Amino acid sequence: MREFDSIVVGVGAMGSSTTYHLARRGERVLGLEQFDIPNDLGSSHGGTRIIRMAYPEGAGYVPLLRRAYHLWRDLETRSGERLLFVTGCVDAGAPDSATVRGSLETCRLFGLEHTVFDGDSLRNRLPGYLLPAGMTAVLQPDGGFLLPERCIVNYTRAAEALGAEIHTRERVTGWDASSGGVEVRTERESYRARTLLITAGPWASQLCPVLRQLAVPERQVVLWAQPLRPELFQPEAFPVFNLEAPEGRFYGCPVYGVPGFKIGKYHHRYENVDPESVDRKIHPEDEAVLREGIRRYFPDADGPALAMKTCLFTNSPDEHFILDAHPDAENVYIAAGFSGHGFKFASVVGEIMAKMARDGGVNDANQLGMFRLARFQRKQVPDANASAS
Ligand SMILES: Cc1cc2nc3c(=O)[nH]c(=O)nc-3n(C[C@H](O)[C@H](O)[C@H](O)COP(=O)(O)OP(=O)(O)OC[C@H]3O[C@@H](n4cnc5c(N)ncnc54)[C@H](O)[C@@H]3O)c2cc1C
Repeated sequence: MREFDSIVVGVGAMGSSTTYHLARRGERVLGLEQFDIPNDLGSSHGGTRIIRMAYPEGAGYVPLLRRAYHLWRDLETRSGERLLFVTGCVDAGAPDSATVRGSLETCRLFGLEHTVFDGDSLRNRLPGYLLPAGMTAVLQPDGGFLLPERCIVNYTRAAEALGAEIHTRERVTGWDASSGGVEVRTERESYRARTLLITAGPWASQLCPVLRQLAVPERQVVLWAQPLRPELFQPEAFPVFNLEAPEGRFYGCPVYGVPGFKIGKYHHRYENVDPESVDRKIHPEDEAVLREGIRRYFPDADGPALAMKTCLFTNSPDEHFILDAHPDAENVYIAAGFSGHGFKFASVVGEIMAKMARDGGVNDANQLGMFRLARFQRKQVPDANASAS
């Protein structure tokens, strides 16, 4: 049986970065991916992902974001490719909404540059937006978007250049852990390693049943609409957005790559799914959810749909990440439950997981306490001898 220092299961956003950071620490790493790298069956496809520094989801994320920005720039330097585009980010909603209050709070706490607008003044400055009079918008200039597929490819390449071995189209079917190390079984063969890192996205609970209620896959749909006034939706003219509206929370990006304005809505149609059997077809109801947001808030983008795609969130109960040692198995570490806002952190999550595996657990309780599994009332489901179906 071949032996490695570490095995990473799932070479998507978190796994490609984790593999790289382990290899960078001199580890002999094996990355195992069930599909291609990149693929469009998990959570990390669709051309763009928002990155933003003001963070209504919690002030605890901001120090991680600072490190994430630094590490994305480092990956750009290594790869010679531009991966992060700064457009600014608009956080908008009612003045007392969690989005606006949280955005302003993190700007204040961390001294982030920002400007506050009402609907009219925002439209004067950024005419792609049409927000109702009662809404407030916070424009924070560090926001922008990443190119997820290129980030994953470049982390994978950088890991390989440091000696990591990456296998695609090799699904992990189960694992066993003991104090001596971990044995990992795939459809093709078995491997041994000192540590196992599980970065399996929507499939995490198949490999760790303890996550069954804690990392729940949810079907999402995004739409690219042909703008009626394309000049208003170019990256130079249109910041990414995070808009808490009465209909729900919309997010989106300017035109980049495909020629459309991109929009999605958190928890789209509230469909918890199994990633093996999720409905990847697009239905008229899917377009209706997003069309409503375009017509109301971005009417100059209300042209025909150029593309629509399904994707998967993996939600934790409090929508904060899970970055921790496995509760029942030694030498096994989990990065899961990214709840629709994880991509921007992939660079720093890889670094955290590599450090965790090296140090044998979570040492930085101040920074990482909010991501520990112990915060949930966990059901005791032993995972030793776990087998994926
Ligand atoms: C529509 C949509 C929009 C989003 N927008 C944003 C955004 O703007 N900004 C942001 O920060 N975040 C955003 N997110 C969230 C973000 O994309 C995810 O949190 C992040 O990509 C999750 O990365 P991951 O590595 O956990 O999953 P993935 O990238 O899906 O990686 C998991 C990998 O594990 C592999 N795998 C699983 N099981 C096995 C197995 N048994 N054997 C081998 N391989 C296996 C899978 O094939 C997959 O490649 C969005 C998500 C969606 C769906």
